Amino acid sequence: MNLVWYRNDLRVHAHRALQEALQAQGPVMAVYFLCDGQWDEHGVAPLRRWYVLHSLAELGEQLAQRGIPLHVLDAGDFSRVPGMLGSLVREQGIQQVFCTREYPLNERRRDEAVALQLKQQGVSIRGFDDSVLVPPTTLRTGKGTPYTVFSAYKKRWDVWLEQHFALPSLPDGQVSKPVAFVGKVAVEDAIDKLDVDASLTQLWQPGEQAAARQLEQFVSRYLGGYRKHRDYPSLPATSSLSTALSAGTLSPASCFHAARQVMADAGARDGAACWIGELAWRDFYRQIMAQYPRLSWGRAFRPETDLLEWDNDDSLFQAWCEGRTGYPLVDAAMRQLVATGWMHNRLRMVTAMFLSKHLWQDWRRGEDFFMQHLIDGDFAANNGGWQWSASTGTDAVPYFRVFNPIRQSQRFDAEGKFIAHWVPELKAMDNKTIHEPWKQPLLVPDYPAPIVPHAGVRERVTESFKGVKQAYDQLQGVDA
Ligand SMILES: Cc1cc2nc3c(=O)[nH]c(=O)nc-3n(C[C@H](O)[C@H](O)[C@H](O)COP(=O)(O)OP(=O)(O)OC[C@H]3O[C@@H](n4cnc5c(N)ncnc54)[C@H](O)[C@@H]3O)c2cc1C
Repeated sequence: MNLVWYRNDLRVHAHRALQEALQAQGPVMAVYFLCDGQWDEHGVAPLRRWYVLHSLAELGEQLAQRGIPLHVLDAGDFSRVPGMLGSLVREQGIQQVFCTREYPLNERRRDEAVALQLKQQGVSIRGFDDSVLVPPTTLRTGKGTPYTVFSAYKKRWDVWLEQHFALPSLPDGQVSKPVAFVGKVAVEDAIDKLDVDASLTQLWQPGEQAAARQLEQFVSRYLGGYRKHRDYPSLPATSSLSTALSAGTLSPASCFHAARQVMADAGARDGAACWIGELAWRDFYRQIMAQYPRLSWGRAFRPETDLLEWDNDDSLFQAWCEGRTGYPLVDAAMRQLVATGWMHNRLRMVTAMFLSKHLWQDWRRGEDFFMQHLIDGDFAANNGGWQWSASTGTDAVPYFRVFNPIRQSQRFDAEGKFIAHWVPELKAMDNKTIHEPWKQPLLVPDYPAPIVPHAGVRERVTESFKGVKQAYDQLQGVDA
């Protein structure tokens, strides 16, 4: 008997662990461990839990139709997984375990404990790097160190994929008679315990089949115009596939494969190439996280920035969370996040930079808040995006990057459509004043004035970052 251990890879297609298990000798079964405690510890949004559990329910049915029973066991948290997996292996006479590798620290520690447990039982475990396109430790600089600058990483990433990419596929003719989905009741019980507002869940479709349809629609309708339109939040120009990618209902290999096929069409080539670049960012942050464990301890990527003294102002933070900062684009974005569980990429940068640079609040507070609301909440991408925006991360020109929230608004929501939708108090304003409503305060008595001025932010930020760099260098010198 072979076992596929499912985690954030809730699909049947383009799944090497399942493919290899089916090709090994003997029947195949699958298992998923519910770990509510871990979700609580990581502050995972209820909406994301809903997406995962419903996707798991669909996966169980899909596997059962292929003759593979999916067991769903309640482990509570990661610490009980090795013992429970060991018992399952013993009871079912399992010879090999197959899984998709995960890279955050807690997950790696869980997997090391499992590997040890299984070794003691004489059972092997095989991991596959299917949640990324390029395995995280594969690409190295000339000095043998991990890449920390995206542009250099991307060049090598392109070359590696050109030489090595292969889309995993299910082996033909290995499907046996349908069986029962044995974990069905456990998933249903877990779903019953969730408390998520229907106004949120009605916006999303969980599961592998919905993700595949979404990819198809995106590629046929929007991929060609992706580069041109992707920065405008009022347009349906990006894929919204981040949730499927992070829960593994869709594989990055399927996305890459689909986009590469479009590259043959000259009209769509530019958009496809640009979108592939976003898949590279996704890999980039995963390899950073895998190779810098301090990120999993809540530490900054640039060590000197751990010396920054952030303000700890609850009223400013609260105004940001609730979309009451007086900056229309920031407020519209924050309201979109809370009302839908998702936010456009440009606005994630704008809001994250605003919290960390204008309000001078610790980026970790914002990172947590995003995680508590995002349906696509993903540790590597969220941490990478937050640290990039706060200039504590991998941005190659960090100190001087302070987005002007008014200019961003005028540029990326020129007609004010996105703002008018999410901040209805402003919808009667024309497309000039909607970006700076404080210029006509009598027209918008219910909308707050800016909680902090934009003027002076760049200077203060630059000073603070220079200060900690000097302090850090001195400390290093003293230590040496
Ligand atoms: C502060 C901040 C927080 C973020 N938090 C998350 C998060 O929790 N989960 C998450 O999946 N993404 C996160 N991102 C990255 C990005 O904003 C989202 O992936 C993107 O908005 C999802 O929309 P989409 O699927 O339509 O993307 P598309 O534009 O269609 O891009 C295709 C895919 O590429 C990946 N991708 C795109 N941009 C990035 C990026 N900058 N970094 C890493 N991967 C990327 C995503 O998987 C995305 O689905 C964050 C970015 C910032 C600045």
